[in-house]
Amino acid sequence: MESMSNQTEIRRRRTFAIVSHPDAGKTTLTEKLLLFGGAIHVAGAVKSNKIKKGATSDFMEIERQRGISVATSVMGFEYDGYKVNILDTPGHQDFQEDTFRTLTAVDSVIIVIDAAKGVEPQTEKLMNVCRMRKTPVIIFINKLDRPTQDTFELLDDIERQLQISLNPLSWPINSGPDFKGVYNIFDKSLDLFKASVQDIEPGISFDDLNSPDLEKHIGNDAKKLREDLELVYGVYPPFDHNEYLAGNLAPVFFGSALYNFGIQELLDAFVKVAPWPRAVQTEEREIDPEDDKFSGFVFKIHANIDPNHRSRIAFVKVCSGKFIRNNVYKLVRSGKTFRVSSPTAFMASQKEIIEEAFPGDIVGFPDNGSFIIGDTITEGEDIHFKGLPSFSPELFRFVENADPMKTKQLNKGVDQLMDEGVAQLFTSQFNGRRIIGTVGQLQFEVIQYRLEHEYNAKCRFEPMQMYKACWIQSDNPKALTEFKNRKHQKMASDKRGRDVFMADSQFILDMAQSEFKDIKFHFTSEF
Ligand code: GDP
Repeated sequence: MESMSNQTEIRRRRTFAIVSHPDAGKTTLTEKLLLFGGAIHVAGAVKSNKIKKGATSDFMEIERQRGISVATSVMGFEYDGYKVNILDTPGHQDFQEDTFRTLTAVDSVIIVIDAAKGVEPQTEKLMNVCRMRKTPVIIFINKLDRPTQDTFELLDDIERQLQISLNPLSWPINSGPDFKGVYNIFDKSLDLFKASVQDIEPGISFDDLNSPDLEKHIGNDAKKLREDLELVYGVYPPFDHNEYLAGNLAPVFFGSALYNFGIQELLDAFVKVAPWPRAVQTEEREIDPEDDKFSGFVFKIHANIDPNHRSRIAFVKVCSGKFIRNNVYKLVRSGKTFRVSSPTAFMASQKEIIEEAFPGDIVGFPDNGSFIIGDTITEGEDIHFKGLPSFSPELFRFVENADPMKTKQLNKGVDQLMDEGVAQLFTSQFNGRRIIGTVGQLQFEVIQYRLEHEYNAKCRFEPMQMYKACWIQSDNPKALTEFKNRKHQKMASDKRGRDVFMADSQFILDMAQSEFKDIKFHFTSEF
């Protein structure tokens, strides 16, 4: 076990992501948390990463800005003795795989829900990933300054749709124009809403709800609040911290990110209840953050697409030990050792060179193509962190060379973009044609644009009839061989060389499943 100080450093780390369906208020909340955390001093410093109507030019512009200040990928700050790391995720759903991967590097998540809209499609998908990984989740219900449905109904809907038990730690008093504020169940105080973007007033301590003082503050709404809370205490058991840490129970806060309301409460409760980095499972053994030896994995590779400042940064989540600048580490996949002389961290939206980093921290390694997403880095031990599985893409295209003079460039570009996780590549075992699978059309456009601008290569996409990519597996080697022979025109290999059956249609997949009982068909790459 490491020294006391390592343990202290680990336990004060809070590494998390804020996620939401587009427009629920993720960007606004992120910015307000940075403001309250003292990391920034003016609103407007956090750039929205929203892409309107899937325009490639929007995406490229955002990428250009981000390339210049990759700092926005991780926003670290000190708050009340805690080291808080917020990991940014793309808002656009075509890039949801990127978001899912970032979720492998966080220790908890805050899900923002628009109070008027409730659970939306992206919210559900994000929750599914959290549930798979048992990531502790806090829910922030936003936009209380706008009219909403009844709070009990809203919570019931969320609980049902997200399949997680809820536990309100605050309770709203009306909404929309009548919104008065929230009663903070977590620390028993009354926070009164002021529709001003500037004023931040501390909550009024209110231990005894039966005190007639309540009427002084919220008038006739006091009666309703008392009734509501009586129901709340009846319906919801007291907050069970262990259930939250196990990912079974989500505490709920209400507020209005735009009007700075409920943010301080959220942040204060968050640092107290959210987990510090926990043990991580590798294929070989469990890695405890307090292990002596450094280990970490690459969850994101950021390419600066500005042709004048070409560079890549591999983002590494520290999982155990202590990362030290210039120490010799090993990239497990290649077995090669290396040193990082200018590792960066991201504090208060500044990128700076660091000497050391602890579990929970994210370190940026300058990269010229050595790393791929999912890589494990250690002091020498051959372990492999388990990544998030790839999901079957939804759209498939053959990728063809559109400039025969630039074959090398194209191959290099396609390989590197896939290493960055921009999309998934499958190679036909039948004719060697390459197939790119994506979640959305925008990804194809980005690939084409980047191949041209960064690799000086031109590609053409050709449509193909494809329903799903299924990773196949069997305990019966004979059955597997037979299946592959029979379906050889439809077999492909993924990036790691695993067998994938490319099913043209639901019908063909159903047929194959009923005919080949010994074959297991998986729709994600890890099973
Ligand atoms: P994101 O797509 O989830 O990042 O959402 P944004 O933070 O960009 O917010 C989407 C829109 O909702 C913006 O116009 C925000 O100003 C607005 N918004 C965010 N929070 C609130 C809130 O608490 N109340 C109201 N009325 N609008 C909000």
